[in-house]
Amino acid sequence: MIKITDLIVALTYNLKMLKAIVAKRLHIEDSRIEHLSILKRTVNAGNKQDIHFNMTVVVRVSGDENEVISRNKHKDISKEIEQIYTLPKNKKLKERPVVIGCGPAGMFAALILAQAGARPILLERGLDVDSRKRKVSNFWRTGILDTQTNVQFGEGGAGAFSDGKLKIGQKNSRKMKVLNEFVQAGAPPEIVYLSKPHIGTDRLNETVKRLREHVISLGGEVRFNATVTEVLIQDGQVTGVRFDEKGQKSEVSTDNVVLAIGHSARDTFKSLLDSGVYMEQKPFALGVRIEHPQAMIDKIQYGGFAGHPQLGAADYKMVVHLPNGRGVYTFCMCPGGTVVAATSEENRLTTNGMSVFARDGRNANTALLVTIGKNDLDNDDPLAGCAFQRRIETAAFEAGGGGYKAPVQRLEDFLQKRKTTAFGDVLPTYLPGTEFAELDSFLPDFITDSLRQAILEMDLWMPGFAYPDALLTGAETRSSSPVRITRGDSLEAIGIKGLYPCGEGAGYAGGIISAAVDGLLCAEQILR
Ligand SMILES: Cc1cc2nc3c(=O)[nH]c(=O)nc-3n(C[C@H](O)[C@H](O)[C@H](O)COP(=O)(O)OP(=O)(O)OC[C@H]3O[C@@H](n4cnc5c(N)ncnc54)[C@H](O)[C@@H]3O)c2cc1C
Repeated sequence: MIKITDLIVALTYNLKMLKAIVAKRLHIEDSRIEHLSILKRTVNAGNKQDIHFNMTVVVRVSGDENEVISRNKHKDISKEIEQIYTLPKNKKLKERPVVIGCGPAGMFAALILAQAGARPILLERGLDVDSRKRKVSNFWRTGILDTQTNVQFGEGGAGAFSDGKLKIGQKNSRKMKVLNEFVQAGAPPEIVYLSKPHIGTDRLNETVKRLREHVISLGGEVRFNATVTEVLIQDGQVTGVRFDEKGQKSEVSTDNVVLAIGHSARDTFKSLLDSGVYMEQKPFALGVRIEHPQAMIDKIQYGGFAGHPQLGAADYKMVVHLPNGRGVYTFCMCPGGTVVAATSEENRLTTNGMSVFARDGRNANTALLVTIGKNDLDNDDPLAGCAFQRRIETAAFEAGGGGYKAPVQRLEDFLQKRKTTAFGDVLPTYLPGTEFAELDSFLPDFITDSLRQAILEMDLWMPGFAYPDALLTGAETRSSSPVRITRGDSLEAIGIKGLYPCGEGAGYAGGIISAAVDGLLCAEQILR
């Protein structure tokens, strides 16, 4: 196969046109191209008068491919080396491994262990994804929260109610394994080649279900409503886990545990710390969600091409470094999405964002986050970051007037430090409701001051960003884990054999793909 990078392709392309472009680049007849697949497709919107795709493709051509490559002698044309993931061999584990948490990290760890024949037992505190969907929509409708099954907890983990955007970066065999497993489980096939793919919450839920069925079909066990309360450790070696399953206390013995509990399992962090598991503080970030009309973002990003069916809803990403030493950045942008109530704890409020696959909602939203470091925390307690998050979540809950209504403020009012009295042309998408409140009433000054400075600077990068009617909803507190469960070279927790802290909660991933890849790494280590 031959790989060709940096192809410039019109938005209106079809396969025939693409073959013609490739044939021209390779100086061969179109008819010699037997197979063509897209490895990567990026929207190039640098020049708003000429928006096009940049593509990397691989082709199989008839005749001698090496001759075609050497005759063309160009850095953009090379032999394609396939990224093949090799499943580790099961080294005959003494006991079945246990995976705690059914988010992307736990699910992919369980999948690899199951594919290697190790018959893992996966314990998840929340419910299966269908029951979870019902619980979450009830919460958004009525404000009645289930602390075990919610936007953070339950099958699919924190990403189940998300945009399902996949941060891929440089591809490797593990990332390809994850993408291919997603596609086999029903995710859109183009996630394999788009530069910024997304699955959408609607399709992600179905995908998660099929991955679970796959694990079970290979001899794995998946138990919902099973909250691990203690990891049993004897002489520096894991010996089992204790858990509450549907109200009953249970125990399972094992010498390998993948701890993939996500960033919101504060009770489990505490219990692990109490049983001597080493943890440390980790920098994190905190702020608000901002909503603009999606049509406005499309116009800013795509100019006259806004609304082009091949482009879909536009996204954006910005980072600014302020003179006060803080970083402020946009995070988890959800084109055509909604702002969601994402708490797992009573009387505390945290926001996040999600989109369906079509990304066809009226608003664009993104988190706008300010970096938080050790000096912002009260003390050296490894869980001081959780305490900081909790304090702001409680204050945001109160500012919203209770019932999980979120405090909101128009951007212009926020900049001018006055309370909002009426919405402009951006209406909130957050449920179960909103209340006008000043962000300064529940966020520390250093956060609101940094946000004000950053919004004005971002408006220079993306004119129109400081749109007066844009809506700010708070507080966004759970963008990443405030702790790290430190592991050594073997990926085991410091001083504890058989305990593999994994994914976002352990501080080793940020996002669906990196969490899933970390799941692969931990499973491979157990099987090594
Ligand atoms: C609303 C929302 C939108 C997001 N959007 C995106 C996005 O578009 N793209 C992206 O890449 N990332 C997104 N993220 C982040 C992404 O979801 C996380 O990075 C990812 O899910 C982390 O995976 P994980 O497996 O490490 O942890 P999690 O997904 O958090 O999974 C941890 C699991 O462990 C379970 N658990 C916790 N404690 C216990 C216990 N004691 N016993 C048993 N089970 C337990 C939890 O119930 C949970 O299911 C979003 C997050 C949220 C909340």
